Amino acid sequence: MLHEREPAGAGVRTTCPYCGVGCGVVATANSTGAAISGDRDHPANFGRLCSKGSALGETLGQNTRLLYPQIGETRVSWDDAIAHVADELTRVRQQYGPQAIAFYLSGQLLTEDYYVANKFAKGFIGTPHVDTNSRLCMASSVAGHKRAFGADVVPGNYEDLDTADLVVLAGSNTAWCHPILYQRIQKARQTRGTKVINIDPRRTATSEGSDLHLGLTSGSDTCLWNGLLVYLTENGLIDEDYIASHTEGFAEAVSVARERAGSADKVALHTGLTSADVTAFYKLWASTPRVVTCYSQGVNQAIQGTDKVNAITNCHLATGRIGKEGAGPFSLTGQPNAMGGREVGGLANILAAHMGFSASERDTVQRFWSAPNLVAGEGYKAVDMFDAIERGSIKALWVLGTNPAVSMPRADAVRKSLAKLEFLAVSEVVSANDTLPAATVRLPAHGWGEKDGTVTNSERRISRQRPFVAVAGEARADWWVLSRVAERMGYGGAFAYTSPAEIFCEHAALSGFENKGKRVFNISGLSSLTADAYSALQPVQWPVTNASAGTERVFSDGQFATTSGRAQFVAVARSLDGPATCDTWPFLLNTGRIRDQWHTMTRTGLVPRLSSHIPEPFAEINPADAARLGIEQNALVRIETVNGTATARAMVTDAISAGTVFVPIHWSGENSSGARMGALVHSAVDAISGQPDLKATPARVSPLEASCFGYFVTPSRAVPAGLMSQDVVYWARAVIQNGYVYTFAIDGPPALTRRIADELVSAEGRISFSDDAAGVYRSADIGGDQVGAVVSLGPSPSAYPSAWLCSMLLRSNLTAPERRALLAGAMPDGSVDTTPVICVCNQVSAGRIAEAIAKGCRTTETVGKTCQAGTNCGSCLPEINQMLSQAAVSSSNGQLQLTPAQ
Ligand code: SF4
Repeated sequence: MLHEREPAGAGVRTTCPYCGVGCGVVATANSTGAAISGDRDHPANFGRLCSKGSALGETLGQNTRLLYPQIGETRVSWDDAIAHVADELTRVRQQYGPQAIAFYLSGQLLTEDYYVANKFAKGFIGTPHVDTNSRLCMASSVAGHKRAFGADVVPGNYEDLDTADLVVLAGSNTAWCHPILYQRIQKARQTRGTKVINIDPRRTATSEGSDLHLGLTSGSDTCLWNGLLVYLTENGLIDEDYIASHTEGFAEAVSVARERAGSADKVALHTGLTSADVTAFYKLWASTPRVVTCYSQGVNQAIQGTDKVNAITNCHLATGRIGKEGAGPFSLTGQPNAMGGREVGGLANILAAHMGFSASERDTVQRFWSAPNLVAGEGYKAVDMFDAIERGSIKALWVLGTNPAVSMPRADAVRKSLAKLEFLAVSEVVSANDTLPAATVRLPAHGWGEKDGTVTNSERRISRQRPFVAVAGEARADWWVLSRVAERMGYGGAFAYTSPAEIFCEHAALSGFENKGKRVFNISGLSSLTADAYSALQPVQWPVTNASAGTERVFSDGQFATTSGRAQFVAVARSLDGPATCDTWPFLLNTGRIRDQWHTMTRTGLVPRLSSHIPEPFAEINPADAARLGIEQNALVRIETVNGTATARAMVTDAISAGTVFVPIHWSGENSSGARMGALVHSAVDAISGQPDLKATPARVSPLEASCFGYFVTPSRAVPAGLMSQDVVYWARAVIQNGYVYTFAIDGPPALTRRIADELVSAEGRISFSDDAAGVYRSADIGGDQVGAVVSLGPSPSAYPSAWLCSMLLRSNLTAPERRALLAGAMPDGSVDTTPVICVCNQVSAGRIAEAIAKGCRTTETVGKTCQAGTNCGSCLPEINQMLSQAAVSSSNGQLQLTPAQ
């Protein structure tokens, strides 16, 4: 049913469900999904959307949705599902105690869903074991904020990125992971000369748009920032008045920094940077009062994540560059509502509304909720929670909106441990993912476009997600399901919610309850919203009290949320040593995101154009390592750690330093035979935040043994039986218009590979071509004069169908040249363009951009005019710039050479 307040056909203002930028979207439902545009009035994006946000309308189909509640594989009514969940939770609590129950939540949930889950678990069931996949994303920032400011408060506003004179992007591939903010920074760079420094062991698309890239060695960030603190101090560049009036702990922090880092030369030695680069960074940072230091997963996801955050905040505190326009440390949140989860207490170490577990805070929350079973203290953080499941102390788990069997460290072990649970409820949007096979109960949840509630972005701005499409099947809001289960367990009075507005108002009221200025998170000014006012709520930054309407800059008065009211310097003294490599595990494995996919691809993986930039899992490896190991560009490689094995395509590039390998996190068991990269990652965590180190697992890399490689173009999503053979050592699936491309590798004799290929394509209507001497075989099913499937085998590991060939799927009335071209793997004119698509909006390949550059285009604007690349969302502009730079370098060497951008 459509939301009553939003008539069908009207543009509905809502919020993008992907990254923490939190862009405003205007969505208009139509027959194929929805027309999507950026909301010009939303202060996060002012009308712009990146490639993922622009494609949201294409993710709304029902083909992959979980439509009905299920117990086991059996469809049941909601009444039966709710009764079953309530009965099982009751049984487990009676049999083993409340601490045998855990909830694993998600930064994808709306604040209202999060609030009800947290209240139900911590106040009524009585289990503290509530954690979230945001633990993997920004827990170190939370811990760092609390140590420095006394509360988990991001001090910055996005406007600061427009007015800063220097933006430092530390451990952040902002161009790909927060694209709209990156475009905002680039605009400031172009229009007002803002300088940009990128700190990252890898050279990424973000580095391309930076004035200086500091490719430090993995894990050496604290040394770099300690060194800056020393530099500022020794050169008289600190703000002594600010330090004296508003901070504590400066002397000790500097003393330890001196011991750990020292001079620029010493820092250079530790970080692998040149002294000149270190000094240039220090000089620019020190001489630029308006400096914003943005940081993201490269800082957070480390065993020293919290220390890294504090090493950064120390420098801002030492110069008083915080709480001011255009200045401050700025954690860029990964997920759309990681911040909302932090607000309600969705992390195991927060009780609710930014309150902890002191006696007075527990008392406040207990009285507000009238909670009969309020927990006594912190619960298991994510890694500990799945360890507890593995050893059998957690018996019942409710997973909402996340896929831990893919994303958790040691994902293979996590997937296996789920089988040990006596009860696993999974609230999900999709009907298949790596976690669902272990579920006792499957609970269909509202997806984006159906959801109705709020999210909070990286700058503390609360925005509405509003429904605009009919709900799929019998899906229900997560808060509704949680509330009905709570009612069934006897807690109906506290969970008699009938709308998200009621929940939001209660959450807002709790934030102000007995607050009296103790907690910065205070949105009590929104606690009396009527249903209509909630429906019409405009994006607003917290705090929002009756006295302040979301316009205050936090910490502008130098008052912090610590007991003393002063910000705290933290002496960052821990060892600089990261995880050790050795002869057996000589690489450090780094993981991260790519431009056009989100998390485990359950939504973005449905959109053909989003798969056209990077259709396969890959592993970046340095040329020196590749040469030593006999790995060629585009060859398949096996990556191993003590925890698991994965297979990916080698991307040989000097963007990554020798001894390290980078892989994307997005592929799962649903779309690849073995690219579940979480399975490789160790479970080492930051001791303070509990955030896993996803950036430095000791690993080894080797070429994959295979005798034959191929692709299969098919309209069918289901993995064909032929590719499930044990002789198929690799496959990966990408979506295209009208179907899918499977790339695969087989290790076996020619007769076997031919048999597998023939199993893929129906014998009826098959045409084929073979060249036994060259080891090439191609066939196509054109039964009924329609292209039903195409398969290709050959010796080249990088064989991939051209865009033309993919476009022929389901085409009828083929001409003779087209039939020949199908089997030749070329276009009818004999040409082949299998270079990757760089501009996914306009489907412009690297080859076409290279042609434009070769014809004389020297700017992104002229490239855009010539081939349309980069003229829509702008997400590909860093890659086009990279190609232009490479062309310029080659040209200045006397020869114009073009290399497709990575
Ligand atoms: Fe969505 Fe892209 Fe905006 Fe992130 S930057 S919120 S993915 S449109």
